[in-house]
Amino acid sequence: MSGLAAQLGAAMEAGRLSSRLWLYSNYHCNLACTYCLTESSPTAPPRQLTKDRMVALARQAKGLGFQSIGVTGGEPFLRPDLVSVLTTIATELPLLVLTNGTLFNPRRVAAMQPLLAGPNGVSLQISLDSARAEDNDALRGADNFQRVAEAVPRLLAAGFHVRVAATLDDAHPETDPELQRLLDSWGVAREDQLLRPVVHRGRAVMNTMGVEAGSAQLGAELTLTSAGAFWSPFGPTYREGKLETDLLLVRRTEPLSGVANALMGLLNARPELASDPAGFV
Ligand code: SF4
Repeated sequence: MSGLAAQLGAAMEAGRLSSRLWLYSNYHCNLACTYCLTESSPTAPPRQLTKDRMVALARQAKGLGFQSIGVTGGEPFLRPDLVSVLTTIATELPLLVLTNGTLFNPRRVAAMQPLLAGPNGVSLQISLDSARAEDNDALRGADNFQRVAEAVPRLLAAGFHVRVAATLDDAHPETDPELQRLLDSWGVAREDQLLRPVVHRGRAVMNTMGVEAGSAQLGAELTLTSAGAFWSPFGPTYREGKLETDLLLVRRTEPLSGVANALMGLLNARPELASDPAGFV
């Protein structure tokens, strides 16, 4: 094991660094949610990581001892090559893919079957903010609730592991009984029902929503985008079209060892930082 891999492993073991490497596949989205960190929308620039780069980074991550890959955006499933990208990455490490859940018609779910055949698990994390359609759709757009309500049972029936995450403007509610009852009825396991606070970055700032989230609040989770490497998946946010750089590590993504070195330098300089101290994940 290299010296860097040993350092990363020790930080992961101590709970000071997430063992998941995050990749921003793209920034465009078919929705335009009121609190979106990345100002994603149908007209946002895609800012894609190429398939080759995502696969190369996943391979390097495995070599450095990362234990899973997270893919987020934007809406990853807008990419025509996404199933191919994910299927290749899933041969290396387990995958968690964050999605708005609106694009899973029967044809697409059938086309995703290769994802279930690989050696590693693939989990889909779908956003839904309320058991009441009108409340959810006020934040996430017309018909969002209905599309998610169709997608989640369809994906579960097809054999996918599905998590559902609600992003709420109240800080850290323990439970939402109404949402819990709904997700129970769809067959979503209790441990896959997540509640998170809106983070005060990106479009949430313009709409005066959310809780503060800088490096003091966010745990270390190495995150790569087409614009560089960041401290956390909450880092590469956009406000009024400009990239927010307070959580930027370096303006490159290759080689991953160099990027990981930069993160370890910061982590070693701030030993008080713990992984996810505020429970944002
Ligand atoms: S919060 Fe997610 S689903 Fe909503 S606009 Fe942003 S990227 Fe799209």
